[in-house]
Amino acid sequence: MSVMEHSRWLAPAWPGDGAAENGRPPGLVTLVGAGPGDPELLTLKAVKALQAAKLVLYDHLVSPAVLDFLPPGADRVYVGKESSRHTLPQASIIELMLRLARSGRAVLRLKGGDGYIFGRGGEEAQALAAAGIPFTVVPGLTAAQGAAASVGIPLTHRDHACALVLATGHTRDERGLDMDWPMLARPRQTVVLYMGVHNLPEICRQLIAHGLPGDTPAALVERATLPDERCITGTLADLPQLALAHGVKPPALIMVGGVVGLRAQLVPQTARQQQPLATASG
Ligand code: SAH
Repeated sequence: MSVMEHSRWLAPAWPGDGAAENGRPPGLVTLVGAGPGDPELLTLKAVKALQAAKLVLYDHLVSPAVLDFLPPGADRVYVGKESSRHTLPQASIIELMLRLARSGRAVLRLKGGDGYIFGRGGEEAQALAAAGIPFTVVPGLTAAQGAAASVGIPLTHRDHACALVLATGHTRDERGLDMDWPMLARPRQTVVLYMGVHNLPEICRQLIAHGLPGDTPAALVERATLPDERCITGTLADLPQLALAHGVKPPALIMVGGVVGLRAQLVPQTARQQQPLATASG
């Protein structure tokens, strides 16, 4: 295994650069979703792609156990992003990916969850399409699906939710959180918010202000499907306080809706043994 500094990959004199100019066809880019964390939740296609990889560009949310599927000789380039600490800006990640593919190298682009769900996979695919570089997409389980199964919260249920909204909880403009509150506060739906932990108090306040009852069940699922997963359940009114008390940190999902109330009944038996079920568990 060799772990590369991305500065080295960006250096102008990297071997292979310019190969496209001398007629070599570009390498195939495979955009792979690594799932929510538990390596057993990878798809078979993802495992095959990992096992055949020679060069991988991977993000912050890809769990180390997933990288264990890479062959020992594969080059690994960490281009990870954390909400406040970007290792490489998105434009540079795209530039690096294009450059490597143009040099004729096959690239595995590995992202947490599903690359097309809040993973900027769409932007990267657009760049590849515009550059005429061949690519394929392997879907992954998104964090919401992993969390739902793992903590016992069905995302839809005929008695509680006939729609599922996956939304980002951190789109800001100068007036604050730029979100469609009336849509998010509709009854009989489940709302799962990604990247929302830091804005949890404002999110809960706005959902209540736009019509959801304060006692609407709500949960935080931190590090879903990983060995140290935690699930905190409460209501829209008390979840911010519970999050503070439990020190919840990203990556975590906010889940809102009647389905969250089913957890008491549906928490998987294995989890029940590990985490005593209370208003707030974990
Ligand atoms: N493409 C990813 C989402 C990337 S956005 C996917 O489909 O899952 C990053 C956000 O995803 C995090 O801030 C968090 O809200 C959520 N997330 C990713 N992995 C998670 C996990 N294991 N547990 C809880 N939330 C997770």
